[in-house]
Amino acid sequence: GEWSLSDKPVYDWSSEEEEPDGRARPIQVLLVKDDHTFELDEAALSRILLSAEVRDREVVAISVAGAFRKGKSFLMDFMLRYMYNHASEGWLGVADEPLTGFSWRGGSERETTGIQIWSEVFLVDKPDGTKVAVLLMDTQGTFDSQSTLRDSATVFALSTMISSMQVYNISQNVQEDDLQHLQLFTEYGRLAMEETFLKPFQSMIFLVRDWSFPYEFPYGQEGGMNFLEKRLKISENQHEELQNVRKHIHSCFTNISCFLMPHPGLKVATNPNFDGRIQEIDGEFINNLKVLVPWLLSPENIDVKEINGSKITCRGLLEYFKAYIKIYQG
Ligand code: GDP
Ligand code: MG
Repeated sequence: GEWSLSDKPVYDWSSEEEEPDGRARPIQVLLVKDDHTFELDEAALSRILLSAEVRDREVVAISVAGAFRKGKSFLMDFMLRYMYNHASEGWLGVADEPLTGFSWRGGSERETTGIQIWSEVFLVDKPDGTKVAVLLMDTQGTFDSQSTLRDSATVFALSTMISSMQVYNISQNVQEDDLQHLQLFTEYGRLAMEETFLKPFQSMIFLVRDWSFPYEFPYGQEGGMNFLEKRLKISENQHEELQNVRKHIHSCFTNISCFLMPHPGLKVATNPNFDGRIQEIDGEFINNLKVLVPWLLSPENIDVKEINGSKITCRGLLEYFKAYIKIYQG
């Protein structure tokens, strides 16, 4: 299809941060503690970003953020599979292979709030001949009460500040409170950054899960864009508050897009023994996954992180991460 690449392996990876059994894993680099203070694991972050193969490479930082139990880690594991299978035609793998990577699970109990980074940074050859480092981040927020909303805002702001692409994972629809949260979170980020004439952030992707109105707006990116355009439209007769949220969001991001994903089926959503094998996932979901993941991650589509118009390396990203966290530790 349109996304297929040559069989030449375009991905290789460094493996500094490994389990004793040699497997890469998610590393909790930012943790929000019970007393609402933030802890940055600088040593772990340095091991990942300063490894010899990647530290001087320009970095593509991809983050997925949003509330708990909405399928973020599940999606990230497919992103990992795409990276490990070198973006090849058959990247999705065989039907009965369990899904591994970031831990994902059912249930409704809350988890830690913070940022996890995959311990392997992938090296990717872009079509323009550059080799870039790709970092995958899984971000967790609670979004559930006033005391934790501030924590979520900080985590979301930080991950938006250090990523070149933020995937805002939301369930079923883009509600007014999803937009209000986004406004709050990006305002948190913008206040902490130097003022410039440039938009402070790069790409924002609204990823709507369990979209159930494909007859109005079809699944995928085009349906998503048309839907989002309608949702983010500013009109004269709108309440001022609604107008302001929309103006704010437009002013923060260089690119804004949207993708509508179908429901993955009841086995995924409700079976506690489901292990992620694709034979138990609805075909419609798989078909859209085959479009979504390369759209997010293919070598031609990924963008290097820029801050104030300058491209950033892994080493530079570490410095920004440390500087930004200090502002919030305040
Ligand atoms: P996270 O907390 O956002 O990282 O969510 P997880 O990836 O851990 O997934 C939470 C639960 O939702 C698991 O039981 C998954 O099987 C299920 N799940 C994954 N993707 C989807 C989806 O697109 N829709 C629904 N309804 N459930 C999903
Ligand atoms: Mg998760």
